[in-house]
Amino acid sequence: MDAASFATVARTTSAEQTKQVAACLATCLQPDDVILFTGDLGAGKTQFVQGVAAQLGVADAVTSPTFNILVSYEGGRLPLHHFDLYRLEDPEELDDIAFYETVEGGGASFVEWSEKFPDHMPEDALHIDLGVDLEHPDHRVIRAFAEGFRASQLLEGWKEALQKEGA
Ligand code: ADP
Ligand code: MG
Repeated sequence: MDAASFATVARTTSAEQTKQVAACLATCLQPDDVILFTGDLGAGKTQFVQGVAAQLGVADAVTSPTFNILVSYEGGRLPLHHFDLYRLEDPEELDDIAFYETVEGGGASFVEWSEKFPDHMPEDALHIDLGVDLEHPDHRVIRAFAEGFRASQLLEGWKEALQKEGA
């Protein structure tokens, strides 16, 4: 995966709009889908997952899992697993937190700070990069790159859903 593989999926001008773009993706999610985020602190990764959760029908408030590393939400259309790998130091710790079992356990997984362990992430995954526009503090560029068959399907479905939405 290199930066050139990413293509712009949407541009947003508010956190609310980022959640709407995320909700479009959520309509296409299937069991065991994996989304690997890149993007700086404050880029909007957690906001994005909040938009997903709302569309899936998760009742609980989604907060940053930085201190828990993994927070799972049941009660939506499918289980939602929200990882934040920021505090992990060694890829072996992925086993300690049951990372692989969890992502293969029938839910949809969203991984913040996946770039810490690029060689240890699931092979079939949708990469989403959130970029901040320094001149416009509330603007974000949402770019994506599909790696693998299922991720490609997911990306196509997401783009169709965005078109229908007029987003
Ligand atoms: P991350 O998880 O990437 O560190 P968060 O989602 O926790 O980032 O925080 C993003 C912050 O940026 C929130 O305070 C949100 O309100 C703000 N924000 C401003 N504009 C946008 C936008 N267009 N999309 C997403 N978040 C935005
Ligand atoms: Mg976050």
